[in-house]
Amino acid sequence: MPAPDPLSLDTDKPASRKWLREVMKPARSGLREALLVSLFINLLALAVPIFVLQVYTRVVFSHGISTLYALLIGVLAALFFDFIIRQARSRMLQRVALRIDVSLGRSLYNKISALPLRTLEGRPSGFWQTLFRDAEMVRNTFSGSTAVLLTDLPFAVLFVVIIYIIAPPVVWVLLVALPIFVIVSIISGKMMQTATKGEREAGIGRDAFLSEMLQGRATIKALALERTIRPAWEEKHADTIERALVRGGRTDMFSNLGMTLTMLTTVALVTAGALAIIDLKLTIGSLIASTMLGNRVIGPFNQLVGNWRNYANCRQALKRLDAVFALEEDRTERSVQLKRPEGRLTFEAVSFGYEEGRPPVIDNLSMEVKPPGMLGVVGRNGCGKTTLLKMMQGLYAPTSGRVLLDGGDISQFSRQDLAGWVGYVPQECFLFAGTIRENIAITNSEASDEEIVAAATLAGVHEYVIDLPDGYGTEIGEAGSRLSGGQRQRIAIARALLLDPPILLLDEVSGNLDMQAEIALRDTLSELARDHTIVVVTHTPVLLHACNNIMALDKGRIAMGGPAQEILPRLFGGAPRPAEAAPVASGETSS
Ligand code: ADP
Repeated sequence: MPAPDPLSLDTDKPASRKWLREVMKPARSGLREALLVSLFINLLALAVPIFVLQVYTRVVFSHGISTLYALLIGVLAALFFDFIIRQARSRMLQRVALRIDVSLGRSLYNKISALPLRTLEGRPSGFWQTLFRDAEMVRNTFSGSTAVLLTDLPFAVLFVVIIYIIAPPVVWVLLVALPIFVIVSIISGKMMQTATKGEREAGIGRDAFLSEMLQGRATIKALALERTIRPAWEEKHADTIERALVRGGRTDMFSNLGMTLTMLTTVALVTAGALAIIDLKLTIGSLIASTMLGNRVIGPFNQLVGNWRNYANCRQALKRLDAVFALEEDRTERSVQLKRPEGRLTFEAVSFGYEEGRPPVIDNLSMEVKPPGMLGVVGRNGCGKTTLLKMMQGLYAPTSGRVLLDGGDISQFSRQDLAGWVGYVPQECFLFAGTIRENIAITNSEASDEEIVAAATLAGVHEYVIDLPDGYGTEIGEAGSRLSGGQRQRIAIARALLLDPPILLLDEVSGNLDMQAEIALRDTLSELARDHTIVVVTHTPVLLHACNNIMALDKGRIAMGGPAQEILPRLFGGAPRPAEAAPVASGETSS
């Protein structure tokens, strides 16, 4: 049975936040300082209301000009100091944001790179890209207005107490208004959460569609599919716009509601104050000062309406990141330094399936590939040949059974070690933008020119490269698009040969090669097969005739297997076809 989907990301399991603690470590001291400075900023916020109150009570009615100047000097000094520490806080928060950016970006990149291939394939690439937006959301929340808001809110309580002291008849207005703000914030958070989730999902779908369309641009042009796919694009595009509109509409509604509530509170404060002044229970100075302080109280609560949404989004982002950081990684550490293996590959009753509930792609397969020699693998499309090669590299873990390399379970080796020991040339060779040299030496950037030329010569691409005006420095374009399929294939072969791995796996490599190149490749492989283990998935007689052993796969099982001289006549000489042949009891394919 295949393993359960490792990416059930909407898990309700309590997640470990160890990753977040690690990520926040470099930013923690900066954040602490910024929050401390915020306390001073809040205390300085009292300066202007105190100034107004004092001017009304001690200056206006008693003509105290000298008191006014003294108060003015005091308040100007406070405002200057306020400006300086606000600037300092901005710089501190920028530094915090930078540190979180660096450490979270690095941790997330390392985490995603260390995930097993099966996990990465289980989700569209857009999903993985969006995690970096989640990281940005976390960064913004911890270093932006939401963090500052957290220090402002407790001060609201202090300001309410001061208002109670200077203007008791108006304080009830705030005691009614503040819970209303909190309720609106919570409702806004809840309503925005669904809208933001919808917008995010629609965005991922649209981006995935777009990147697939761009990758397949040659096919789209060749088949003139522009019109055919336009409706699908327009549907996705319209969906994204519609959801963005819903989200935008709700954002506006809540921010307008916040503004209205703020103004209503001011109106209520002034009305209650005016009534109290008429009743001689309050002075004008106290009313003005308490209105100012009231605005300082309401300000953060009004921001809370907008920020509660950020907070809810950040929680969602953290949940997704929790799930990703909890995923099991490929083995990256080696416990001991192992010597180069001989290259014996053993499959012990191995089964593997991509999806639960579907028949296994590799079905209870047992065999041994003994070094040195070349094994040819044949079989119909979809019978599991590529999957088998991926299991030989430890890229997919068996659902049951074991894959052994030189008698040791392949799962114990690190990805780095396996990549060095098992060279792989896939059916669709992916090259990176850059030069030919960079692409051949991508697995070992310190490779000497001689090593690179030797690998290119073995792969039969050296002659072509030295004929180019820029030689090995030729830029090959995005994904190697300036090269032909055959040239890409040969560069991929050179890339695999550069490390001289004891095991070399080639998947339908001759598909893009001309006859001459195929013969040259056969000669290279025959030479290498003297002291390497080579497994080649192929249907061309040229390569098959160079194999020592041949294995025919059918629906993930060995249909035929044995020495090439026995199997080849059965494959090409009118003998039963692989699917009709009786399975061999032992998949022994020793060379
Ligand atoms: P072959 O190389 O023999 O043509 P593969 O090993 O590529 O066959 O595929 C074997 C089967 O596994 C096919 O039925 C294919 O549909 C399925 N398969 C291959 N890759 C995946 C994948 N990433 N996810 C789900 N199914 C897959």
